[in-house]
Amino acid sequence: MSDPAAWISERSQCFDSSGIRKVFDLAAKLENPVNLSIGQPDFDVPDSVKHACIEAIQQGKNAYSPSQGIGPLRSELQARIDKRFEHEDREAFVSSGTSGGLVLTVLSLVNPGDEVVIFDPYFVMYVPLVQLVGGVPVLVDTYPDFRIDLDKVESVITDKTKLILFNSPGNPTGIAASKEEVQGLAQLAADKNIALLSDEIYSQFVYDDQAHTPADYNPNTIVIDGFSKSHAMTGWRVGWVHGPSEVIQTMIKLQQYSFVCAPQPAQWAGLAALDVEMTQYQVDYRRKRDMLVAGLKDDFEFTEPGGAFYLFPKVPAGTGTEFVTKAIEKDLLIIPGSIFSSQDSHVRISYAAPDATIEKGIDILKGLVRG
Ligand code: PMP
Repeated sequence: MSDPAAWISERSQCFDSSGIRKVFDLAAKLENPVNLSIGQPDFDVPDSVKHACIEAIQQGKNAYSPSQGIGPLRSELQARIDKRFEHEDREAFVSSGTSGGLVLTVLSLVNPGDEVVIFDPYFVMYVPLVQLVGGVPVLVDTYPDFRIDLDKVESVITDKTKLILFNSPGNPTGIAASKEEVQGLAQLAADKNIALLSDEIYSQFVYDDQAHTPADYNPNTIVIDGFSKSHAMTGWRVGWVHGPSEVIQTMIKLQQYSFVCAPQPAQWAGLAALDVEMTQYQVDYRRKRDMLVAGLKDDFEFTEPGGAFYLFPKVPAGTGTEFVTKAIEKDLLIIPGSIFSSQDSHVRISYAAPDATIEKGIDILKGLVRG
């Protein structure tokens, strides 16, 4: 008798996803939860984007596209990127979501044993992805204010450090890095000849400042971005990557033998999405951010987030997981910080939700603290 369990590769056993599954299992029992756990916009895909996708399907644009993306989207992205950065060697291609771009970056750059610097807390995928290719995640603690301390970064750099994964505005903290932090990190990576990946998926949602990118200060920065968060297209799987052509060409080669291409109709939708006016969405999320911050500031300790749609407060007592369990008992769904961190002291609250849900959530959270 064969044993399928014995077939599982070692690399896929070096991490698990049981923490988040436990929360989802608990949540599945709730009939009508106050849901502040969602990492995607609460608005629907804009109509012009839907129409572009439907039209593409009806016109028979349903086949594989070139691996690097349909010509019109890739050249529009390239034109915008060239205008923005004026870098001699910055090439763009269309990936299968930002996640696809992340996977291809790590596959293209990280050898077994290479160290990858990750700021803790981090987007859930970063650590397992690095482990999957045999890399070693090296965490840099950013608690309590989630700022980039360049001395800390420098202190973990060794001759094995290959890559730094940077994400601003950040998931789960919502913190938008300042110009000085971004510039310092970019310069450090350049000086040490370390690759720097900047995950800019929340770049459309920066509320108090402009979005800063390390690519402005280090022309070899690899930037990933996508339509998931900006245009509520999480299910459509379209993102893009730009960076030095040698790296991008390697990523396209790997995309050919893995994702093949981003879904073609969704790429045509992406082209239309580039023309959507984003101001109203930005204004709306800033207002929701202000509402949540005002509602919780007297009862929770947190650094005010400048972007994305998350707040990452410290829980007043016990662990984040214990706090989430109590919240779920009151029908409120939030995520324990341990999913995103080596620490279990915080929770992630998403304000990508209708105002009434945010208000209900604030009441429940205050009730949990005040007892
Ligand atoms: N990076 C970050 C920081 C994210 O929060 C997410 C989505 N939650 C992704 C990447 C992946 O996005 P996509 O849907 O484009 O794969």
